[in-house]
Amino acid sequence: MTDPTSTGHRPADLPERIQHYIDGELVDSVDGATFEVLDPVSNETYLSAAAGKQADVDRAVAAARRAFTEGPWPGMLPRDRSRILHRVADIVESRDARLAELESFDSGLPITQALGQARRAAENFRFFADLVVAQADDTYKVPGRQVNYVNRKPIGVAGLITPWNTPFMLESWKLGPALATGNTVVLKPAEFTPLSASLWAGIFEEAGVPPGVFNLVNGLGEEAGDALVKHPDVPLISFTGESRTGQLIFANAAPHLKGLSMELGGKSPAVVFADADLDAAIDATIFGVFSLNGERCTAGSRILVQREVYDEFVERYAAQARRVVVGHPHDERTEVGALVHPEHFDKVMSYIEIGRGEARLVAGGGRPEGFESGNFVAPTVFVDVPRDARIFQEEIFGPVVAITPFDTEEEALELANGVRYGLAAYIWTNDLRRAHTFAQSVEAGMVWLNSNNVRDLRTPFGGVKASGLGHEGGYRSIDFYTDQQAVHITLGGAHHPTFGKRDAADR
Ligand code: NAD
Repeated sequence: MTDPTSTGHRPADLPERIQHYIDGELVDSVDGATFEVLDPVSNETYLSAAAGKQADVDRAVAAARRAFTEGPWPGMLPRDRSRILHRVADIVESRDARLAELESFDSGLPITQALGQARRAAENFRFFADLVVAQADDTYKVPGRQVNYVNRKPIGVAGLITPWNTPFMLESWKLGPALATGNTVVLKPAEFTPLSASLWAGIFEEAGVPPGVFNLVNGLGEEAGDALVKHPDVPLISFTGESRTGQLIFANAAPHLKGLSMELGGKSPAVVFADADLDAAIDATIFGVFSLNGERCTAGSRILVQREVYDEFVERYAAQARRVVVGHPHDERTEVGALVHPEHFDKVMSYIEIGRGEARLVAGGGRPEGFESGNFVAPTVFVDVPRDARIFQEEIFGPVVAITPFDTEEEALELANGVRYGLAAYIWTNDLRRAHTFAQSVEAGMVWLNSNNVRDLRTPFGGVKASGLGHEGGYRSIDFYTDQQAVHITLGGAHHPTFGKRDAADR
């Protein structure tokens, strides 16, 4: 633990208010409304942000629509757009320390992890900037009759709605492909953490993105987010957030038949077989649930351990969890910082209380000693967790893990699949056959064998069941943000029957 008596760190030159960014201008809300933003260590208001509503979303969508129909962006050569987006990546990289400092202050993420996320954001832009230049589309030949090709084109104004966990990085994950493919965007960042998003305006301007291509409206989900989802001129919504918000957005978008990409919640299993490398499995499963404060969609928050190694695993895991360093987000030694907001802190603490009645607590279980204020939670480990326990079934989204024993591979699979979510799964075994058969049977959009969540940006990202709908990542993002129009070219005579040729006398 770092020194709990040290005061929270306040970055230099913190803004006191942030505005929307519409058509290349920073603007207040049409009705002047604002909302307050807290920092998660003092839980005091440090910032007021413009609270967008329908009228602000209308302005932003109109600007994005104009930039799409009249501006240069959608028709630019991919190489030219790519150059600009590489500049975005260069600028993000050159400001990674400042970005991390602001993100860590606003969200409570440990500074070293916030720095890693800032670099990932730059990498997301580079990746999609490269991909659109290398993009090739299909052509189909029908010998002597037709050549048919795919004309891939941007769709229009993409509405991007993002959550508060790793906010800047998750915004880049949507902005990169949406812009690289020639769309224009309206971003609605999470209301708990709007600070880092306010940096995009300056970054895009400096990189040479034309006005109206990127627009940002701050505000509450039920107001600004809702208006974006229901706007008739926004044909696409890419949403990341809770499953129940996803359900609501799905219903609200239905009358407009919008393109939807939904990246939702998770309760991902890490399955440790007796033949696994236990040292590596313990390190990775500790990291898998306690990194990013446990506020991670792909957290391995349920660990299933084969009975032969269960006792040893539990003992070693609990001992290591107790050594995880909780501390102030700005301190480089900190491994778990402060949860994002007092409301979320209360939610996580309520699950810890529920867990006490459902399972055996072997580490953590509340505020760490010495941290009497701020949203700090000690890494918490419950063991012998039954499959019908709420802490086994429900997403907690904090530094809390549920460990459950199993005997056979069949039982492990049943436990792994026995929840409504299906985002990720982590499998620890040295048996090649079992690794692949289990990976292919587990209900998860993404599986890692003998590893924590190490991403390859080319692979699809997304969940099944309540964890999502559709995939982004690599070529899937390109597919989501583009229409693939089929153009058919006739070679020689057209092959169609001739109607209406015969005279009336012949009938
Ligand atoms: P949330 O659903 O509360 O909010 C996400 C965003 O949606 C915010 O910007 C919010 O303002 C907006 N929103 C809320 N109600 C809305 C409405 N009615 N219409 C339109 N927009 C609305 O989620 P959160 O608490 O910010 O984020 C945590 C959740 O996100 C967790 O469940 C986590 O698993 C999930 N998540 C998933 C992934 C993934 O890729 N699958 C990644 C990160 C986080």
